[in-house]
Amino acid sequence: MSAERARLEELALAAIAAARETAELARVEREFLGKEGAVGKLLASIRDVPPDERKAFGHGANELKRAIETALAARRAMLERERLAAERSAEDFDPSLPARALAHGSLHPLTHVVRRLEEIFSSMGYAILDGPEVELDYYNFEALNIPKDHPAREMHDTFWCDREQKLLLRTHTSPVQLRALERMRPPFRAIVPGRCFRNETTDASHEHTFHQMEGLVVGEDITVGHLIGTMKTFLREVFRRELEVRLRPGYFPFVEPGFELDVRCPFCERGCSVCKRSTWIELCPCGMVHPKVLRYGGVDPERYTGFAFGLGLSRLVMLRYGIDDIRLLMGADVRFLEQF
Ligand SMILES: [Zn+2]
Repeated sequence: MSAERARLEELALAAIAAARETAELARVEREFLGKEGAVGKLLASIRDVPPDERKAFGHGANELKRAIETALAARRAMLERERLAAERSAEDFDPSLPARALAHGSLHPLTHVVRRLEEIFSSMGYAILDGPEVELDYYNFEALNIPKDHPAREMHDTFWCDREQKLLLRTHTSPVQLRALERMRPPFRAIVPGRCFRNETTDASHEHTFHQMEGLVVGEDITVGHLIGTMKTFLREVFRRELEVRLRPGYFPFVEPGFELDVRCPFCERGCSVCKRSTWIELCPCGMVHPKVLRYGGVDPERYTGFAFGLGLSRLVMLRYGIDDIRLLMGADVRFLEQF
């Protein structure tokens, strides 16, 4: 053993000393320390060593390994020093050249908007909740008053994970309403920013993966007035000025009455392409939580009322930054993302 070890050590040290480049060192390292290297083979041969000599054998082999590693590191450092010295003494070396700029990452526009919204709603006493993206039919539809064969299901082009198990990719953030009702005792306020999925053909305004932010407030004597006040407050914070809002009747199975909330177009006075010449932009469906949904969540609708809204986050981000194609948000194009 010791003869073999000495022979290998001598070979390795000589090869290391002779190496003129780091690539050569890497080759020497592979040759001796690599998986199929000489030291590895030596260690593997411990099987053939009598049991009472194995400890000393292993110890010797490990010492050899360490000696080679130390020599490699020292030689590497020396080559690096030589390389730098050569570079500095070269005629075209100019220490006054500006350093190469580091590439900085930037936050996704969605992250900017979500953080801002979380700040705004936290300051109004809202909890920030999260929910599973792979959801049960029960939470996504059934308990939101959208039973099987309900026509509203047609509007949610659903990605099914497992129809037998009734598992799907959530088509909206509303299932977290139920999960919140089950877990939290009223009165409470909560928002749920998150990803949703629909099996849709994509175009400039449709994407299979998009973002929503659900809002839910439950307590005694909550009215539509609270809903309008809340929406106005948050829009003022996001767009940094007072924006007019209006409610139109809208039908959503999990609210009663239900509304479409429109906001006055922040980009024009007489109509533009963003508001389709109407000066109003549809922002989010909302309404008073349906008594059936409260009951599904274990909350007494005789005592408590609440409002809910489903803010289109992707849409809001597009409005906020003047982005005209929703596909850019999930497109992972660095040239686009760098701008934020
Ligand atoms: Zn407009």
